[in-house]
Amino acid sequence: MAIRDAIIAVDFDGTVVTHAYPHIGNDIGAVPVLRELIGNGCRVILYTMRSGRLLDDAVAWFARNDIPLYAVNENPAQREWTDSPKVFADLYIDDSALGCPIKFEDGIKRPFVNWVKVRQRLVEEGFLD
Ligand SMILES: [Mg+2]
Repeated sequence: MAIRDAIIAVDFDGTVVTHAYPHIGNDIGAVPVLRELIGNGCRVILYTMRSGRLLDDAVAWFARNDIPLYAVNENPAQREWTDSPKVFADLYIDDSALGCPIKFEDGIKRPFVNWVKVRQRLVEEGFLD
């Protein structure tokens, strides 16, 4: 049984697409997994160092891929109990996080998230069936 209503914070560059900052990187398999999480009642927060137009480009990527965002770079609910700028989430998916499954590919300088393995972990941890 999946954990419903979990808030999942996802980084952008290297996490949902390959690293190509300030451009938008290539698809790496995040879309179906994120849609599946949302289908299970999870809410997705984008957390990224991008700002201004480059942030708009990232937000547009989610819209283009039919992934509704609960929030961007903040958790609206946490304002009631903290002034901390850290985004509150039940789970963070970030290519720079220790333990995040990553993948190296020829010709690509920086590794990116391995969504096949992330999906397996999400099942093991109860976020997906
Ligand atoms: Mg990153």
